[in-house]
Amino acid sequence: MIKIKFFGAAGTVTGSMHLVRLPELSFLVDAGYFQGIFSELNAEPLEELRKVPFLFLTHAHLDHIGRLPILVKSGFRGTVITHRATWEIGRYILEDAFHLMEEDERLYDLEDLRRTFSLPVKFVRCGEEYSIGPLKFRVRDAGHILGSAFYEYEYRGKRFTFSGDLGNTGKPIVRDPQMPSKTDVVVVESTYGDRVHRPFEESVEELKEAVFSTLPNGKALVPAFALERAQELLYIFKGWEDSGEWPEDWRVVLDSPLATKILTEFLKFPECYDEEAYARFLRENPFRLKNLLITRTKEESKQLNHVRKGYVIVAGSGMLNGGRAIHHLKHMVEDPRNALIFVGYQAKGTLGREIVDGEEKVWILDRFYDVNIRVYTINGFSSHADRRELLNWIDSADPDTVILVHGEDEAREALKEGILERKRRNVLTPTLYDELEV
Ligand SMILES: [Zn+2]
Repeated sequence: MIKIKFFGAAGTVTGSMHLVRLPELSFLVDAGYFQGIFSELNAEPLEELRKVPFLFLTHAHLDHIGRLPILVKSGFRGTVITHRATWEIGRYILEDAFHLMEEDERLYDLEDLRRTFSLPVKFVRCGEEYSIGPLKFRVRDAGHILGSAFYEYEYRGKRFTFSGDLGNTGKPIVRDPQMPSKTDVVVVESTYGDRVHRPFEESVEELKEAVFSTLPNGKALVPAFALERAQELLYIFKGWEDSGEWPEDWRVVLDSPLATKILTEFLKFPECYDEEAYARFLRENPFRLKNLLITRTKEESKQLNHVRKGYVIVAGSGMLNGGRAIHHLKHMVEDPRNALIFVGYQAKGTLGREIVDGEEKVWILDRFYDVNIRVYTINGFSSHADRRELLNWIDSADPDTVILVHGEDEAREALKEGILERKRRNVLTPTLYDELEV
């Protein structure tokens, strides 16, 4: 008998953390941080998890690793099982998150963070099989971001699989998600359970159109998440340079200290690349355009205000709710020769969302500004599998029981219907702190 208790990402709430209890051992899958309107939940006690001996991490996004220092503060001293890329990128993500928090919202201190990265760690690789006593597990490539994994477990003849976040097929750098083996129970994300993405290549074409029509007379700002999206953009721009399309006097600027640190990690793990990225890597650095400028200081970032045209600036934050991107925007937003190109989701309540929704005047740092900049919203760059991909993935696992997590209620319900239309299965949609026996 397997018991699974949901400490996060059960339904609308973010912050994946699932406790698995077997008769002979227990373990956690992820330790994600609650974000946005749910952030108060991060303060809820985790003492119950203090003695859990193992934690499997699927990937380095904050909503999958962000509560780890809080867990450590509560006394957790278990062994972390993860891909090395997740652990190394995770350290940058957690340090960055810590420094972005206001002092009164910090639930742990630097000592807890240091202790987190002194935990015992077992690094695992995609495609390999391992065991802990009677528990066997296989690590598979989730194709979501660099180092992302899903786990297939087997315990005394019973098989169960945790998807983590699954990637979108056809996107650059990382491989497409692997299809799972036959299992009895699957715990699967449902973020885009109600949507089908446009093909990735179409979005790349839209990006090209936006950049190439702007740079002859103006600048383009691309707000981007520091993990994966920023590196993807450099990889795409470099591809245009390699094919001779990128004019020699145009420059790409990476203006994000976090994205720059993570970029060095990308070069350390070419084994996570898809075939095309790997072939490019063997020839040269696939992110390093000839005219790439990586800013080191705030001063260098400010210098960009004097540039009038021929620059595309990739900067954080991805939703314009902080970071260097808003400083650039302030200087660019009233000039219609410039472009603001969104390549990621814009959550409600962010400046990015206000602009996407068509506000004509927006408050940026010190005053209201007119939005004269040309705005492009490109939707196909998702790093999550869409409805069709999720359904195919679940079909491949062919489980008796499907447990849907990590999606808003509408997406989960829509995916549930889709699953049941295809085959009769037991589909469960737990809420926070539910415990299921499967
Ligand atoms: Zn993720």
